[in-house]
Amino acid sequence: MKLLFFIKKRLFFLLAITVSSTGCAAENTIPENIILFIGDGMGVSQISAAKVVKGSLNLEQFKVSGLLTAYSSDSFVTDSAAAGTALATGYKTNNGVISLLPDAARLKTIVEYAIENNKATGIVVSSSITHATPAAFIAHIDSREKHSNIAKQIAQSDVDVLFGGGWGYFVPQQIPGSLRTDDKDLLQEIKKHKTFIQTEQEFLNLAPIDSVVGLFAVEQPQQATTRKPELSRLTDKAIEILSRNSELNNKKGFFLMVEGSQIDWAGHQNDQEYLINEMIDFDDAVGVGLKYARDNQQTLVIVTSDHETGGFAIHNGSVKNNTISNSTFSSTEHTAAMVPVFAYGPGSSLFSGINDNTHIGRIIIQYIRNAEKSTSFDAKN
Ligand SMILES: [Zn+2]
Repeated sequence: MKLLFFIKKRLFFLLAITVSSTGCAAENTIPENIILFIGDGMGVSQISAAKVVKGSLNLEQFKVSGLLTAYSSDSFVTDSAAAGTALATGYKTNNGVISLLPDAARLKTIVEYAIENNKATGIVVSSSITHATPAAFIAHIDSREKHSNIAKQIAQSDVDVLFGGGWGYFVPQQIPGSLRTDDKDLLQEIKKHKTFIQTEQEFLNLAPIDSVVGLFAVEQPQQATTRKPELSRLTDKAIEILSRNSELNNKKGFFLMVEGSQIDWAGHQNDQEYLINEMIDFDDAVGVGLKYARDNQQTLVIVTSDHETGGFAIHNGSVKNNTISNSTFSSTEHTAAMVPVFAYGPGSSLFSGINDNTHIGRIIIQYIRNAEKSTSFDAKN
């Protein structure tokens, strides 16, 4: 009887090993790679509008979904700095603050944990790379407005892939286009260790490399209709570089954050067409991440938002004609509505239900820190 029990136990153990070694994307295992997509200002109405106009969204392929509360330490309505900090560190802070607690204590970010745990890392955005959301993953500072200082911290970071805008913050004040008020030449610093590019042509000509900084606008990149390279192509290239870097340099997978930054700006401007174009551009990028995750089987993809912008409401439209005929914005600011979260792949099950936005940062950090210790994950550890 005892022997039988032992055999049964062994069989179960072997079965468990077989399941995990075949790379089955079990929803409760720890992922090797994590891709976090953030639609800045993306609420449920923004997604609804994009679905009507695009017909179907890559977002619809996610099986795990939930909602997040997003208030900050000092405000019922969060800004992108506080929400970015919650997503990037698992802690709440005051509006305007980048990855510091309200008492100025420094918070370790997902990117810093990932580097410490030998993962390749990347940040891809459609704003200046110094903007609040990307800054929250790399920098630590009491005000999101201090772009020059944020640029310095970004230039000093060991992030392998950085794509966005804002090269003006990296060149000394005498260079035309500089947004600095000092003589620091951060681009020179970056070029000592990494490939630097700033045009679509240079992007197309990129040789296989381990690390790259691509800043494609002096400050903010153009809107999605004219922005090159598109967020989806930047995402695709970032995944290619990070997976190659991870493999060649014996790293333990990668972490990539991709932000659709201008969904928020369209909301502030109450511009529905701009909003939908940015949503579709973002969803295209999500599709690239999902495709990689489906092929790779070891990749967790999370899509979420930092807050809703504009109090956007849809009143009428046509599914058949892919049109929104009547909509309103109730505000030019952020709102307090909960934001959606979607997850796919190993480790995705913990993202369902209603949670606080700090949950995202906490779970990702636990996955990164526990990667070597166990193949299963307990949310309460
Ligand atoms: Zn905003």
